[in-house]
Amino acid sequence: MDNSMITVTSPLLPDLEEFHGLLKEIWNSKWITNNGSFHQQLEKELAEYLKVPYVSLFTNGTLPLITALQALRITGEVITTPYSFVATTHALWWNGIKPVFVDIDMRTGNLDPDKIEAAITPKTTAIMPVHVYGKPCDTKRIQEIADRYGLKVIYDAAHAFGVEVNGESVLNAGDMSTLSFHATKVYNTIEGGAMVMRDEKTKQRIDYLKNFGFAGETTVVGPGINSKMDEIRAAYGILNLRQVDACIAARQRVANYYREALKDVEGISFFMDMPGVKHNYSYFPIFVDEKKYGVSRDDLYSRMKAANVLGRRYFYPLISDFSTYRGLESSDPSNLPNAHHMANTVLCLPMHHALSNSDLERVVDLIKR
Ligand SMILES: *Cc1c(COP(=O)(O)O)cnc(C)c1O
Repeated sequence: MDNSMITVTSPLLPDLEEFHGLLKEIWNSKWITNNGSFHQQLEKELAEYLKVPYVSLFTNGTLPLITALQALRITGEVITTPYSFVATTHALWWNGIKPVFVDIDMRTGNLDPDKIEAAITPKTTAIMPVHVYGKPCDTKRIQEIADRYGLKVIYDAAHAFGVEVNGESVLNAGDMSTLSFHATKVYNTIEGGAMVMRDEKTKQRIDYLKNFGFAGETTVVGPGINSKMDEIRAAYGILNLRQVDACIAARQRVANYYREALKDVEGISFFMDMPGVKHNYSYFPIFVDEKKYGVSRDDLYSRMKAANVLGRRYFYPLISDFSTYRGLESSDPSNLPNAHHMANTVLCLPMHHALSNSDLERVVDLIKR
């Protein structure tokens, strides 16, 4: 029996020969970082591919979050979701901002707009939602609330590469959106990330801020940071962008396979595609109802692991349960019943472009057994 390891994700890698060709160009030019030609090219190509006005590349997906909060001078309290990767809340903490956790909507896993207003105080300055698993937030309702209270909206769109609602990029919602191009994401530059913004002035300011605030050899316009992407990873990113559509199509095939194979398994549920949405199939979470399925989520996780099939419990524990954040009033479990339920039942199945049919059969067999 095939017992080889099936990982939850697998990085999309550029063709080595082509990459070597671009590396030669970099070596010849001797321009290896600081807004080189591949960096400029990738920013343009990404803006076009993603259907957004402006993209600024970053060295990872955490620094654009931190920088967006700096650029908009966000202070005080920010409303956010506990059901995300921990970097979302860390970005607030690094800016001295108090995170205020609001519960999620069980239908999407995203911040529940109905619960946002009750969490607004005179100190609230912004909302930081996450399009979790690449499923779009209710951006319209969130914007209405933000406008009513004069709040900024920064989307952590780390999972939402290429996601569109009725033909429009979800990355155009809010004041800014941030992306992660980490190796584990749908589109990767090994490490990397980006910020999406609507106007040229903001793009210019962000470009200064990611380079220590330098606006010229002798001018520093603000307390910037160093979060520039280098030429080698920009070149890698240019090659990966050419194959990302095929990668997403392969992921869609995996999602369809799982949905068909698991639809009659008692106690196992999953999300369906949302109408009008172009999904990127970045994750495939299932939810285990222990009473109906007969086995707990953690037991299923361990059983799969013992058979060399690696799922991940994204997002367990909740960010609000980590020691740094546990003491906040909004971290009280009674404030976050849906988020707790989802975190305690979720298991993300292996989801990537390189899964074979026999891999998928092995995953499904383990769940059906
Ligand atoms: C991956 C991720 C990040 C962080 O991105 P890095 O590139 O790893 O710094 C932030 N938020 C979410 C929701 C993520 O999944």
